[in-house]
Amino acid sequence: MLKAKKELYYKCKKCGDEIYWNTHKKYTQCSCGALAVDGCEEYVRVGGDAKNYKQIKKARSKEELKALEDRFIDSYALALAAVARELYAKEQQEKENLDNK
Ligand SMILES: [Zn+2]
Repeated sequence: MLKAKKELYYKCKKCGDEIYWNTHKKYTQCSCGALAVDGCEEYVRVGGDAKNYKQIKKARSKEELKALEDRFIDSYALALAAVARELYAKEQQEKENLDNK
């Protein structure tokens, strides 16, 4: 079950890059190199000066979800993608509701 709290990104304050918390143990750096993330289900390691990045929470983008679907064909991953898509749709709906107020 994909939990909303896991929709966590690390955003570099210098270059604006956003790195999803789960990099599948792949050491991932932002464009300017001030931030690095190495995360998986068991741990998340964040490299870089704490003042140069911040944690943000958001639903994953449509492009990312599409990429997920392309990459994984097993039903478990597809179920995760479906949940993430639901969260995304919910967030869009909430945005619309805010706009209408
Ligand atoms: Zn950066």
